[in-house]
Amino acid sequence: TIEGKKRAIISVSDKQGIAEFARALVDLGYHLISTGGTAAFLEEAGVPVERVEDVTGFPEILGGRVKTLHPKVHAGILARDLPEDRRQLEELDIQPISLVVVNLYPFEETVARTGVTVREALEKIDIGGPTMVRAAAKNFQRVAVVVNPNRYQQIIQELEEKGEISLATRLMLAQEAFWHTARYDAAIAGYLTGIKTPESLDISPEKEKYPSRLMIPLVKVADLRYGENPHQGAAFYREDTMPPYGVAGARQFHGKELSFNNILDLNAALNVVAEFEVPAAVVIKHSSPSGVACAATLAESYRRAYEANAVAAYGGVVGLNKTVDRDTAAALTETFLEAVIAPAYTEEALAVLKTKKNLRILCAGEFADLYRGMDVKRVSGGYLLQDPDAITDINSLPRMGRVVTKRHPDEKEWEDLIFSWIVVRHVFSNGIVLARDRQTVGIGGGQVSRVAAARIALTQAGEKARGAVLASDGFMPFPDTLEYAAKSGVTAVIQPGGSIRDEEVIAAADAAGMAMVFTGRRHFKH
Ligand code: 5GP
Repeated sequence: TIEGKKRAIISVSDKQGIAEFARALVDLGYHLISTGGTAAFLEEAGVPVERVEDVTGFPEILGGRVKTLHPKVHAGILARDLPEDRRQLEELDIQPISLVVVNLYPFEETVARTGVTVREALEKIDIGGPTMVRAAAKNFQRVAVVVNPNRYQQIIQELEEKGEISLATRLMLAQEAFWHTARYDAAIAGYLTGIKTPESLDISPEKEKYPSRLMIPLVKVADLRYGENPHQGAAFYREDTMPPYGVAGARQFHGKELSFNNILDLNAALNVVAEFEVPAAVVIKHSSPSGVACAATLAESYRRAYEANAVAAYGGVVGLNKTVDRDTAAALTETFLEAVIAPAYTEEALAVLKTKKNLRILCAGEFADLYRGMDVKRVSGGYLLQDPDAITDINSLPRMGRVVTKRHPDEKEWEDLIFSWIVVRHVFSNGIVLARDRQTVGIGGGQVSRVAAARIALTQAGEKARGAVLASDGFMPFPDTLEYAAKSGVTAVIQPGGSIRDEEVIAAADAAGMAMVFTGRRHFKH
């Protein structure tokens, strides 16, 4: 074959783990070639390397802009194992290279810092590195390329066990390499797009929150059996973050494969329960809460969330915000559920839950901040991006919210008003939530008129509306919803306010002896 002695080129900005890796390669019989900084680092660590200048017979020039850009390097990487290529290498005295270990100038990290000038950023655009990476990846039939320091151990292990890096591994490394350079170039393009004054290199361009072009790197989690309906193909992708988080980062402990709709519902479930400090539970159907409750224990919270709408809860997806214990597990197994998600489970609880063969059990770990990044909605031909609709410090609501009625809410009403205001944010608009003792008793959502949403919530609550509070995700345009609620026994209301008929609505509340709070902020959800 083409190889005599095995030759590797090493040129890395991130020097983490490289000394150990290089030493192991030498022990496995590799001859190492390296660029200035890397060579110095390895020599310091006592690893023998040949300088790339000695290979090319050409110095590193232009302050490092040209180091490895030379036919002796690139032909050594790109040569195929063919008679014609072998003959040319011999003729020109070029040694073949079979392993390329490169990671690039830290461009993204550099431009993420504030105050970095265009001049500094441009110098961090790696040219020789990606060129070697792309050459090696293109030639994966013969060459292995390592861009990710997390692979060093695996590569050494494979070399020790098999004496070579297999073709399958080389292909996998090539895929990783081209994703790496693609992402790298996307970051450069994104940065350059933000430069408005090309004359001045010594300025630091303002970072745009919504860049004029966007690339979101996504990694496939799984192909799904089908989408929202069986005739729709589907797959699940997660953001390329380490570690993964949210629903995309949850681990499945048990049960049938997750479906597209399961994932949507688990997402909704997690978003609701992550709002609460105290034990809380939610049952989700079709991305909407059918019941939400808080109580002293998790088991009690679940029972109350379930009973909030027992008819709807059948076949639901349950979200819980504390470690699931035996009692909660026992309650969960009483009926048919599709899936459950929680931060953790005790051993006992898991054993109980696993008696349900099909129940999907998801472990989300400690709840991380779920509202990172942008909220994205697809429209035909485009995407809408917005900040996520997070409530900041709900507990300050009693101070922040404006009581607009003669009567102020009492302590218990405040507690339920806050609870219902949290829940209504998770109900599709127009949304109305009725709650009593931190349990939803009626939820009306996805309606085209507010009074219709209220009617659904009040009908569902029936007698339980007496002494309940009402939350409305948008302002009440007319007094009708309020009068209707008062007649059903609702004692307090929370809503954004801001209608031109606010005075009429407030007068109706006063006439009924109700307490009403304006939040000054609405929470539509579509
Ligand atoms: P070192 O610290 O060894 O001097 O430089 C290592 C870095 O240089 C690596 O990130 C590698 O991608 C990059 N590199 C290697 N060859 C070239 C080249 O010819 N031009 C440029 N601009 N960068 C190179």
